[in-house]
Amino acid sequence: MVVRAGGEPCRCGSRGCLEAYASGRALERLARNLAHEGAPGSRALAELAVRDELDGEAVGRLAQQGDPGALAAVEEVGRWLGVGLGSLVNIFNPEMIVVGGGLGTLGELVLGPARPVMIQTGLSPNKDAVRVVPAALGNKAGALGAGLLAWEELGGC
Ligand SMILES: [Zn+2]
Repeated sequence: MVVRAGGEPCRCGSRGCLEAYASGRALERLARNLAHEGAPGSRALAELAVRDELDGEAVGRLAQQGDPGALAAVEEVGRWLGVGLGSLVNIFNPEMIVVGGGLGTLGELVLGPARPVMIQTGLSPNKDAVRVVPAALGNKAGALGAGLLAWEELGGC
């Protein structure tokens, strides 16, 4: 799903995809930019960059500890996630959206900033009824689901 035409390059070969703005990689890119610009509160991010330890997971851990630079990066990713969620609400009118992967493990740190943007871009009444929640199985949900599918295909028990 493209959220910004001609935007950041994506691993799929296109540009401006949601994945390029709301993912662990996007979190790393935003954090690097903040550290490079010397943005207020970005000292811990800059220290991670110098040690070559700056990635999405590390930024997420810093955000959970309340680091202001990491929180700014997570909030930006959350707002982009909200753009994508608004479109999903308009197209599919879901009762619930479950956010998995690394971003889902950040819970309200990322979903909190996502919801107001989803509300801005989504249409009523869909946007008023949808619940946005983190995946209960966290970052392992995809792998566990694939394993369960294979188990069932093989006859399970
Ligand atoms: Zn893409």
